[in-house]
Amino acid sequence: MNTPAPILDRLKAAVGEAGWSQDPDRLAPKLVEWRDRWTGATPLLLLPRTVEEVAAIVRLCAQSGTAIIPQGGNTGLVGGQIPRGEVLLSTEKLNRVREVAADDDVMVVEAGVTLQAAQEDAAAAGRFFPLSLAAEGTATIGGNISTNAGGTAVLRYGTMRDLVLGLEAVLPNGEIFHGLKRLRKDNTGYDLKQLLIGAEGTLGVVTAAALKLFPVLRDRAVATVALASPADAIALLHRAKAESGGAVEAFELMNALGISFAQKNLGLRPPLEGAPPWAALIEIASAEPGHAARAMERLLASALEDGLISDAAVAQNDTQAMAMWAVREGQSAAQKPEGAAWKHDISVPISQVAAFIARASAEAIKLQPGARIVAFGHVGDGNIHYDVLRPEGGTDEAHAALRDQGARTVHDIAVSLGGSISAEHGLGAMKSAEALRYKSAAEVAALRAIRQALDPQRIMNPRVLF
Ligand SMILES: Cc1cc2nc3c(=O)[nH]c(=O)nc-3n(C[C@H](O)[C@H](O)[C@H](O)COP(=O)(O)OP(=O)(O)OC[C@H]3O[C@@H](n4cnc5c(N)ncnc54)[C@H](O)[C@@H]3O)c2cc1C
Repeated sequence: MNTPAPILDRLKAAVGEAGWSQDPDRLAPKLVEWRDRWTGATPLLLLPRTVEEVAAIVRLCAQSGTAIIPQGGNTGLVGGQIPRGEVLLSTEKLNRVREVAADDDVMVVEAGVTLQAAQEDAAAAGRFFPLSLAAEGTATIGGNISTNAGGTAVLRYGTMRDLVLGLEAVLPNGEIFHGLKRLRKDNTGYDLKQLLIGAEGTLGVVTAAALKLFPVLRDRAVATVALASPADAIALLHRAKAESGGAVEAFELMNALGISFAQKNLGLRPPLEGAPPWAALIEIASAEPGHAARAMERLLASALEDGLISDAAVAQNDTQAMAMWAVREGQSAAQKPEGAAWKHDISVPISQVAAFIARASAEAIKLQPGARIVAFGHVGDGNIHYDVLRPEGGTDEAHAALRDQGARTVHDIAVSLGGSISAEHGLGAMKSAEALRYKSAAEVAALRAIRQALDPQRIMNPRVLF
C-alpha cells in the first residue's frame, strides 16, 4: 500500500504541524500490539485534536481512496488497530471530558479519554461508570465502543453497547454524525449509534460519546472461593445472585495453573491455600450498609455447608480486595513468560460453560499432548478466556504451528454449544476470516451491504470484519 506523497502532504496540512508524525520512535509503540503478535507499518501518524480535524482527514481519504485505521489505546487483542501500510489516525489528542451531567446521569467524553480517566471523572461527580477491564489505564472510550468491550461488570451493567446513549462520529465519507443524545428511550428507526458500536473502526471514527452513569455503591464485599469444578462455579453463581438479590457485581473464574503463573511470574500471593483446581472471585455491591457483607457471609456459609466450595477467603479491607483482583487481572500477563499460547475469547450459554471446558480441554490435549491450559474469565457472562500454552519443554514454533487448527477446534466446540468465537475482543485481523465460517450467507450479505453503503471504497480499516 503506497500512499502518494502529495496526499500525505494534504493530510498533514489538515492537522497542522503538531497534528502528525513520521518519527519512527513516536510511531513504534503504536505499531506493535500488546501480545507482540503483530508489528505494523504506516506512512503517517495523524493526531487530530477536534472532530472537525477528523472530518477533514477522513474526507481527504475518501476523495483519494486512501485507507485509514483508527487507533485508541492499542490494547486491542485481535490486531484490528495495527496498520499494515494504511494511514494511522490516533485519538490520543481527542482527550477531553466534555461534561459530566449528574442530573442526566450522563457524561460526555471524547474518544481518546482513557477508560480509567472516565471512571475517575464520573466518581468525582458522585456517579459510577461501570465498565472495567485490566487494560483500563490505557484503553480508550473510543476503543471500548468500537470493540463493544465487556470486562468484569457485564453481569450487572451490560457491555459497552448497553452503556452508550449517544455518539459523535465521522462517517467514511467525512460527514459528521452529531448523535450525542442523552436519551434512555428513542425509538426512531434504525439506530446508527448501535451500528458503530462494535464496528471496529470499519464504519467511521468515533470522536465522542454520551455514557450512562449509575449510583455509587459503597458497600462492597469481595471473596475468593475454592471450587472442585466449573459446574460448581455455575451453581454458586446462581446461588450468589439469589442470595444477594441481584447484587453480584463480578463473578470471575480462574484455574490452579493460571493462579500459579500469577504467583511465579508476577510475584502475586495466591488468595487461597492449597492450590484448589478452580477458584472464583466474587464481588457483591450494594447501597445499603452491611448488605454486601451479610449476603456474602450467607452465601459462603451455605456453600461451605453443602460442600459446593471447599474454602473461602474474604477480603477484610480494600488492600486485600485489590490483591485478589490483581491475581485475576494478572491472568493474561502472567502467561507471557511461559511461551507461545493459542488464545481464545469464547462465550457459551452459562449452562454450557462446564461442557465447553471439558470438551475443549480433551480436544486440545489430543491435538497437543502436554499442553498447559489456563481457563479464566467472566464466567458469570459465559465468557471464558481459554488459553492453551505450549507443553513444558516444547518449542514456541511447534506450538504456534498448531494455532489455527487449535482455534478451529475450540471455536467449533463453542459454536456447537450455542456460543460465539469472540465474546468481547472483536474479530480484528485475527478472526475476521474465521467468523465467516459461522455466519449464514444471508447474514454476511446483509452486513456487507451495510458496509458497502457507508464505505463503498472500503477505506476504513479495510482488513477487518466482512
Ligand atoms: C491486559 C488486557 C486485559 C483486557 N481485558 C479485556 C476485558 O476484560 N474485556 C474486553 O472487552 N477487552 C479486554 N481487553 C481488550 C482491550 O482492552 C479492549 O478491546 C479495548 O476496548 C480496546 O480499547 P483501545 O482504546 O485500546 O482500542 P485499540 O486497541 O486502539 O483499537 C481496537 C479496535 O477499535 C478501533 N478503534 C479504536 N478507537 C476507535 C475510534 N475512536 N473510532 C473507531 N474505531 C476505533 C481500532 O481500529 C481497532 O479495530 C484487554 C486487553 C488487555 C491488554
